[in-house]
Amino acid sequence: MSLPASKSKTTSTDASFQQNVVQLISVARRPEEALNLLCEHYRVERPRLRMGLPSGEKRALGCYVHRDKTIYISSEEYLYDPYVLIHEFYHHLRHVGGKHRGTERHARDFALAFLRTARLASTPDGAAAPF
Ligand SMILES: [Zn+2]
Repeated sequence: MSLPASKSKTTSTDASFQQNVVQLISVARRPEEALNLLCEHYRVERPRLRMGLPSGEKRALGCYVHRDKTIYISSEEYLYDPYVLIHEFYHHLRHVGGKHRGTERHARDFALAFLRTARLASTPDGAAAPF
């Protein structure tokens, strides 16, 4: 499967992509498939997805370890939390892209953009954002 090579600004296609990703994680509860979609869209290598944090990490909800190319999610609860998975995917994306600009603020904004899109699509009355 291949995607068109355009790197356009936000389009309705992007919006439905973002919505799909969020729903795959939180509604369909298929985070692995959401990751496939993200990797296809951004054309990056697929990171692994693991439950439980690596040793040394105790307080994070999730984390990305570049050495292992692995996204770790602290517990099942957060495996189905789109914010956590998309946030960690951003760190993977930045590492693979080699730019190394993966600050927490950027990761947060990246994930929130997905949530905002999905929320606009599903709840027009705007329930409170979880973050
Ligand atoms: Zn982070």
